[in-house]
Order: sequence, then C-alpha cells, then structure tokens
Amino acid sequence: MSDRLLNHIPLIKLAGIGASLESKFHALGIKTIQDLLLHFPLRYEDRSSSCAIGDATVGEYTTIEGRIIKTEIIFKRRQMLLCYIQDDSGIAILRFMHFNAGMKASMIVGKWISAYGEIKSGKTNLEIIHPQFKIKANKAEQASLSDLNEERFTPIYPSTYGLTQNVIRKMIKSALILLKNNLPNEILPDSLSQNYLPILDALNIIHNPSITTDIDQLLVGEHPAIKRFVFEELLAYHLSMLMIKRDNQKQRAYSMHSNQRLILPFLASLPFNPTHAQQRVVQDIYQDMTKHIPMMRLVQGDVGSGKTLVAAMAALNAIENGHQVVLMAPTEILAEQHFNNFKQWFEPLGITVDWLSGRLTAKNKQQRYEALKQGEITMLVGTHAVFVDKVEFSNLGLVIIDEQHRFGVNQRLSLWEKGIKNAIHPHQLIMTATPIPRTLAMTVYADLDVSIIDELPPGRTPVTTVVIPNSRREEIIDKVNQACLSHRQVYWVCTLVEESETLDAQAAEMLVEELKERLPHLNIALVHGKMKSDEKQSVMQAFKAGEVQLLVATTVIEVGVDVPNASLMIIENAERLGLAQLHQLRGRVGRGSAISHCVLMYQAPLSRIAQARMRVMRESNDGFVIAQKDLEIRGSGEILGTRQMGEANFKIVDLIRDQHLISEVQKASYLILSESPECAKQLVDCWLPERQKYINA
Ligand code: ADP
Ligand code: MG
Repeated sequence: MSDRLLNHIPLIKLAGIGASLESKFHALGIKTIQDLLLHFPLRYEDRSSSCAIGDATVGEYTTIEGRIIKTEIIFKRRQMLLCYIQDDSGIAILRFMHFNAGMKASMIVGKWISAYGEIKSGKTNLEIIHPQFKIKANKAEQASLSDLNEERFTPIYPSTYGLTQNVIRKMIKSALILLKNNLPNEILPDSLSQNYLPILDALNIIHNPSITTDIDQLLVGEHPAIKRFVFEELLAYHLSMLMIKRDNQKQRAYSMHSNQRLILPFLASLPFNPTHAQQRVVQDIYQDMTKHIPMMRLVQGDVGSGKTLVAAMAALNAIENGHQVVLMAPTEILAEQHFNNFKQWFEPLGITVDWLSGRLTAKNKQQRYEALKQGEITMLVGTHAVFVDKVEFSNLGLVIIDEQHRFGVNQRLSLWEKGIKNAIHPHQLIMTATPIPRTLAMTVYADLDVSIIDELPPGRTPVTTVVIPNSRREEIIDKVNQACLSHRQVYWVCTLVEESETLDAQAAEMLVEELKERLPHLNIALVHGKMKSDEKQSVMQAFKAGEVQLLVATTVIEVGVDVPNASLMIIENAERLGLAQLHQLRGRVGRGSAISHCVLMYQAPLSRIAQARMRVMRESNDGFVIAQKDLEIRGSGEILGTRQMGEANFKIVDLIRDQHLISEVQKASYLILSESPECAKQLVDCWLPERQKYINA
C-alpha cells in the first residue's frame, strides 16, 4: 500500500472536520484526504477586475466599488445590516445577515468600499449578500480586493447542499498543509515523472493559482499541473485492466468443445440463418471456450445486429458441455424479454430456463436459489438480482452480460467471481451496442478481447428520421393514427422532464390520457419505470402480441426491447437527449421488414448543439458514424454520455478530451509492468482502490 497522497487517511482525521461535515463531503464522493486533494475546481473567479455598479450583471461574481452613502440595520425575520454604496453609475446594497457592532461602525458614510460577490437583483437595487469587502479612506486608495485575498483567482469547487465554498477551500488548504508536512513520494519511475511537475507544486497551482497562472489552460486540462494527474489516472486505469487480463490468463476454466447436440436442432428451429458476422463472432467465442483459460470477450454490435442470437449460441455450447449459464440484463423489461426468448428457444431442447429479479417474492426467490444450487436450473436470466450473495450455482460455465455499458467493471467482475468453483472460473461474454471509437476502446476495454458484429440481418430498411417542432403535434398525432390504422405499431417516448422517474412517469400518464382522448378507437398502453414488474410484463407482452397498437413509454424501453412489427417511433423533447441515447431508442424500430420512421419532436428554439445532433440523426443510422459525430459535436461540453462510458468512472480524466494521451499511456504501461510492477500496484491502489481486490498477482 502506498500513502502517496494520504489516500488511506479518512477525511475525519483532518482538523476541523466533524461527523456532519464528513457526511457532506461523502455526498460528493470525498472519503479520504486524497479525494479532497483531487477535488479540483470547476472554475476560477478573477477578483482583480472591478466594474461600475451600473454595468454589473446579475448572477456574475464581480468587484464593485463605491462611496458609502448610508448604513442601516433592518429587521426582517432577523437582523440585517445594509450598506448603501454609490459610484457615478448607480447605487448598490451590501447586505449582511451576520455582523457585529464594529463592522457597522467601520462603515462610515463618505468612505469608499470595495466589495466582491455574486450580484443579485434586489427589490430596488442590485445587491451583494455577504460580500468580501475592504474599506478605503478615499476613492484613490489602492486597495483592490486582490490584496484582500493574496490570490487573484479564487477556485470554485463542485459542491453540495450545505457545503460552502469557504469550507471546501479551508479544508483543502489544511489538507495541503498536511501534505506538505508529509511530503509525497513519486510513484512513477523517474523516467516518467521527470516530465511532470512535482505533486505538491501541481496541487498548489490547481488549488491556488497565482497571477501568472494560465487559467484557461487549467480549465481545458492542458496545464502541466493538471496533466500529471490526468496521465497518472489514465495510466492507473489502463494498468488495472492489463493486470486483470494478466491475472485472468493465470486462471483456469473448463475447456468446452461443441458436440453440436443442441446447436444443430436449435439452428434448425430458427426461421432464419445466422448472418456471416454472427457466425464469425460465434466462432471466436467457441474458440475461446475450448481453452483452459477463462474467456473474457466483448461482442460489440450496433442495435438490431442480433446479439441475442450470438448469446444463445454461446450458451448452448456451455450447456452441451454440461454447464449452467447466467445471462444478466440491465432492466427488468429486457431481462423478461430475454427470458421469454430463451424459454421459447431452449425448452423444446429439454433445457430448463428460469428467471430471477429483485421483484419476485421472497418465497419464489428462495425456490430459485435452491434450484440453482442443485443444478435444476440450467439457464438463468435475470437483472442485478443475480448478484445477490444468496445466488449460488452448482456448475456455472458461462456468464453473459448484456448491454454492459449499464454496469460497471466492478459489477462485472463480481459476478464473474461468483462463478468460481474449486478455483475454476466461468467464461465471460459481454455484449454492448455502444460503439466506442477504437482508441477509446483500447483503454476502456483493455482487459477484453473484442469481436464486432458488423452486419445487420438481411431485409432491414434504414429508419427514416424527421425532425419536427412540438407546435406540429396535431400532424404527428394524425401520423400515429394512420400508422395504427394500417396495422403497424407505434412507440411514443416521453423523455425525462427532470432527473426524476416519478415526474417522468407522471408526464407519461398525462400523455396517455391526452392520446386516449384524441384517438379513442386505438388500444393505447403505458409502460414506465415506476410500474410493478408484472404490470410492465403484461403491457410488453400485449404490445408484442399486437394487442396494443400504441405504446407510450419512458426511456425504460431504451435498451434491448425487440418488437419487429413496431415501425414508428415518436420521441418527445428529443433535444434533451444525447446522440447515444437517441440512437439506442431509435433502434427499437426498423427491426422488421416494413419501412420504419422516427419522429424527433422538439421544443423550439434548438440550441446549436441540439441542431447538430438532430442533423446527425437524420443523416445516419450507423452507430459508429453517430459515435464519431458525437465526439466532434461534443467539443463544447456535451459528453458521449457518461452513462455510456459506464465502464469507466474517472475522477479527473475526461476520456474524450484526453484521448490523445492514450498511446503514451499504453507505452508507459508496458514499461511499468515489465520494469516496476510494484509501481503499477501502487498506482492502482491510489486511483482505483476498489478494484484492488480483483487483482491478485
Ligand atoms: P440486438 O443486437 O440489438 O440485441 P436482437 O438480438 O434483439 O438485436 O435482434 C434484433 C432482431 O433481429 C430480433 O428480432 C432477432 O430475432 C432478429 N435477428 C437476429 N439475427 C437474425 C438473422 N440472422 N436473420 C434475421 N433476423 C435476425
Ligand atoms: Mg440486445
């Protein structure tokens, strides 16, 4: 273990932090002193620039200066001190809730005052509440607030309710002092660390930039002070992946050879043949499974490319060899759909298929735990519930994870560990529709072998996408009606109103009422995340069976749902969604042979980024192209979707901003692993302590 940045010292050890402050910091994910030191500012405020009162902008942090014209104490629920100041351009009020007699006495009418803070609009004048201030004898006296705080730039940190900037700053200051008294060792070997600023210097620049610091460079991650941390974190991440992979190579697995006993009748029962791409990927998988080392393979395939079939064929290989298989999906709706598919496919072959979700009754769960342990269930499909400690397998040979971007690396590894029996590991197959550009994939999936399904099943016609403002709702309702009358099915997706599933569900409920009123002759149903699981299931089944013509849904249907007869999708407030999510959603249509349409409805006016996104959606149906465009558009802040990158959860690295470092990181990783493995361990311990337990060697 290393203690380089006081990474094993809990926050509570810092002078001035008690239990209540500690819990507030925990809410920000800050648990150790290192976490605090690596809590970097969002932005910096420049206190040296002052402006005329008349030019001050509400919401901005500014210094204003003026002559004191009046002070008064008023009583509004509590006592407040108001100090009125005036310059040539106007009058502003400085408002203090906490003050003492001395403070009031010092604010002598006629003297000048310099005050810094956020400009608010008060009833009569602009005001600053609790400004930082300095009183001057006259206007000319040089007493700008930059003397007040010897630093010109003040860092503003990400915060949470009840945690003020001042407290965060104070705590970081004392953490820096502590660090200075326990000077950190470099972890990186000299050959690498000499390119970078020493840790303490770098942290000092980040938390207390001086007059000469290039703030813009700091903010875009180009400053040498930031770069050393970016490099280290990326390196630690990459190393952890390589170590996991290397560890994996030392593990043992059952070698499985297909005897075709199940696969042949299965293929014969399908109404179609696997595509070439599916066959090629399945061959990769079968090849891996013949080995005595556990497979760790990622199958990447755009939405609709037929990953489920690949999973089924992999599962049959393990089952032919006498093993159990578990398939995990991120949502109940998707797990349920997989369960139905596998049941339909496998039961005629004499394979018992069952399912597990958190919403089953305790008794039902218990029965399944028992059956799994006894080996009475061969194929288990489920949600996160398959992680639970009580789940034990008798003979697990293969773990399949669908839509892995919804899970983290650690969850994936923990499920895998579950399968270990007598030191034999199960094989692991991971499926994703997330098209990550190649350079990024090399880091995010450095521990995995990758196969790509680069072909869609035959007979698909690309989805035609149109972008229409909310104001043309009537036309859209009409379009929906037409589609349903010609025996097609429709999704109407109601997107997040706010980050709240409850509000989302309410909005969807209202929409259903509206549509039922407008289209009384149609069978309209609703599905959202707040519904009970059997309700969700029966709605999805009715939709699949064609009984429901119009399905109003929240984004719960985003991943995996497969109803080939649905050929029209309306996405409301599409401007709120990122490209990755729009592409996933749209992937729910265009699965059958009918020509499909997707309507992106938006609330005008569209921001520039939203316009660019809509254009991409209109012009392309190809996940890789869309991902690439996403990177280009993103520039100004919108991310490929942190969720989409769910695998990687970085503190400082921004994978997209920092991708140019990847090749350097790869080189450094090999150097470190071969020359100073101790350093690799320390880096992982520092940056990804929770991953440590999966790395043995
Ligand atoms: P995804 O890759 O998005 O998970 P699915 O596995 O849900 O895609 O497959 C999408 C649809 O394509 C399903 O209806 C499935 O039955 C169908 N499908 C899969 N493979 C083929 C194939 N080789 N030929 C024709 N249809 C296929
Ligand atoms: Mg799928």
